[in-house]
Amino acid sequence: MSSPMLELMGLVKHYPFRDSLGRKRGAVHAVDGVSLTVPRGGVLAIVGESGCGKSTLGRLALRLIEPDSGAIRFDGEDLLALRPAALRARRREMQLIFQDPFASLDPRMTVEAAIAEPLILHRLHQGREQARVAELLERVGLRPELARRWPHEFSGGQRQRIAIARALASEPRLIIGDEPVSALDVSVQAQVVNLLSGLIRDLGLTFILISHDLGVVRQIADRVAVMYLGRIVEEASAEELFHAPRHPYTRALLAAVPGQGGGVKLLEGDIPSPIAPPAGCRFHTRCPYAQPICGQAEPPPVNIGGHVAACHFQDSIPPATPIREAAPDARLAHLQSFFTPQGETLA
Ligand code: SF4
Repeated sequence: MSSPMLELMGLVKHYPFRDSLGRKRGAVHAVDGVSLTVPRGGVLAIVGESGCGKSTLGRLALRLIEPDSGAIRFDGEDLLALRPAALRARRREMQLIFQDPFASLDPRMTVEAAIAEPLILHRLHQGREQARVAELLERVGLRPELARRWPHEFSGGQRQRIAIARALASEPRLIIGDEPVSALDVSVQAQVVNLLSGLIRDLGLTFILISHDLGVVRQIADRVAVMYLGRIVEEASAEELFHAPRHPYTRALLAAVPGQGGGVKLLEGDIPSPIAPPAGCRFHTRCPYAQPICGQAEPPPVNIGGHVAACHFQDSIPPATPIREAAPDARLAHLQSFFTPQGETLA
């Protein structure tokens, strides 16, 4: 069995929180002890609500920000031990695609200059940079003649294709897409998701998709990690996670996805402040299954055949519903039947 492309071990990132006088008053627990193994090839999705720490985790994984503690291994190499020059060389193999393509496209650079920049930086395809830019544009479904134009002349979907071409220019093996299609219209989203799927397959890429959109994740991911308040609460193959979720948070997220659970909103209230995350299970303030122990003891992750979930009651909660297979009018009643009032003992 081949070694993983990326291993994250116990990553922690807290941001100091200061009052108006600059005194340290605590810390935002953005990422709080995350371990994750990313196999070679295919797509691992990291999902969760806004503010759960998934974007911070993506930047930690590429060492664009430094963790407070933990370890990162990329292709077996200790990324945190690399000196700046060695890290720059390694970065050629790791790219990030942002939600807003303008974040990676300088409005003062033509498309050709933007895509050629990584080629020049890493001395790739020397002497034939122009031809390589044309190839990359064709690879992402754009005409090479567009190379002389400026980013503002393109639609959002076209700009994201250009950003993808730029990311591909350095011939990476790992790409992290941070909400890469969430700013696009739904019809354009589907085209860009199809493009990414084809590229991942044809180029043998490893792709980490950071997304709050389980509909998009369902289309493209092979494996899914669900993040809540800085921690991974469930991780499984996409097939298992969508058919048999074990964590109540995952179930609530799935129930809210039109086409998966009928758009039923089961998750009430806002995500608690990451400055003072709840004790015990961090989800207990919103979990309809919560019992007294949930606020006292953190549930350990339990791995059953590669499906990992961290919930004290994952075995006693009613079996996951094949939500999307239920008749529409039965979905709501069935989903509601999952939930017992807080404090009641689960059978
Ligand atoms: Fe809910 Fe308790 Fe499980 Fe946390 S441990 S998800 S609060 S039942």
